[in-house]
Amino acid sequence: MNTQKQPKVGIVSLGCPKALVDSERIITKLRADGYAMSPDYADADVVVVNTCGFLDSARDESLDAIGEAMNENGKVLVTGCMGATPELIRDKFPDVLGITGPQQYEAVVSAVHEHAPIEKNKFVDLVPEAGIKLTPRHYAYLKISEGCNNRCSFCIIPQLRGDLVSRPLGDVMGEAERLVNSGVKELLVISQDTSAYGQDIKYAESRWRDKEYRTKFYDLCDAMGDLDAWVRMHYVYPYPHVDDVIPMMEQGKILPYLDIPFQHASPAVLRNMKRPGKIEKTAARIHKWREMCPDITLRSTFIVGFPGETEDDFKMLMDWLDEVQLDRVGCFQYEPVTGAPSNDIENHIPDDVKEERWHAFMAKQQEISEAKMQKKIGSTQDCIIDGVTDDGETIIARSKADAPEIDGNVFIHHCTRPVTAGDIVPVKITDADEYDLYGEVNT
Ligand code: SF4
Repeated sequence: MNTQKQPKVGIVSLGCPKALVDSERIITKLRADGYAMSPDYADADVVVVNTCGFLDSARDESLDAIGEAMNENGKVLVTGCMGATPELIRDKFPDVLGITGPQQYEAVVSAVHEHAPIEKNKFVDLVPEAGIKLTPRHYAYLKISEGCNNRCSFCIIPQLRGDLVSRPLGDVMGEAERLVNSGVKELLVISQDTSAYGQDIKYAESRWRDKEYRTKFYDLCDAMGDLDAWVRMHYVYPYPHVDDVIPMMEQGKILPYLDIPFQHASPAVLRNMKRPGKIEKTAARIHKWREMCPDITLRSTFIVGFPGETEDDFKMLMDWLDEVQLDRVGCFQYEPVTGAPSNDIENHIPDDVKEERWHAFMAKQQEISEAKMQKKIGSTQDCIIDGVTDDGETIIARSKADAPEIDGNVFIHHCTRPVTAGDIVPVKITDADEYDLYGEVNT
């Protein structure tokens, strides 16, 4: 694993309150993508100047600001009202990196990504590789907090992003509601530690739709269950209160899906990882969750070859996989990250051993996954339409068990009704392979 350098963006915001709101939106998106903000030119990898061009004086002020940013930094993106007359800017500053018009938030964010690329890191990035601009309109990521209070030894997120800062539930629900009203059919709740939501603000009460809620995982699930959308929970740790949301999954309020990054099953390795939660009772709890909600899909990620992982630890992990039969699993070979405490743990595992364990792990999980997928043949699953294959022959969809980007798909080869992205339709499953399902719509 490589160290993630967090690029810094400077932003100069000129003009009216609307321009300020635009700047805030740009900053929000950049922060969600993993950028840091720089208070000065020298430290910034790129500078965004949000201009005002309403009056001549404002235009002059904007040109002066662009000139200053060019002199002090040289990597400058111009946006805002003056972006509507790019020739005025290019005449004076032919070397600006890009010009976009007012309210073109996505274009500014894309330009920042292009000129100050962020290094993807599977342990740091919450938003998948496709990034925000490619997220189809019918699903959206909803970030409920920043930072993390845990100190897992392989992770540098708390160093990069700081301690947990939760958004009050009312704010989160306001955004969720806006997204649903604008056509989003599936909300993917993300954070670094979703079950810790609200800890930092002592689960403060917050108002939404004339009702008081605590800023807490349970209340969030409860409130989100009232929206007309699929709600999928990511990065949940198996704290005891997670048990309380399983009935909401069974009742169909939120999707019966939990993404829990277990990382390992050996208590010794987990101690070295300094992971939150206790693994000892987790298998029993998983069995209980399945009794309470038989359709629940459990997704997880693991690290093999962590420093100090013995053959016995690895065997324990393999046995645990057999016992809990997770539905969806990702596995990484341990790689050191500069600045992570795990670098100092003794007995780093040789690459060939890591590789061997990874293959053994994946082979086992593939077997488990294949058997689970086979059992779905003959069932009817509600699926959300994502699009069509390049040849236009097959509809690509996902069942409730499939998060976009990371899980499998349901490929529909026969469909008796017109469908569009975001539609939810019953699909009769006719075939399966290790990770994907195949089916038809006959209703
Ligand atoms: S829970 Fe652990 S791995 Fe996840 S962000 Fe926090 S410190 Fe990093």
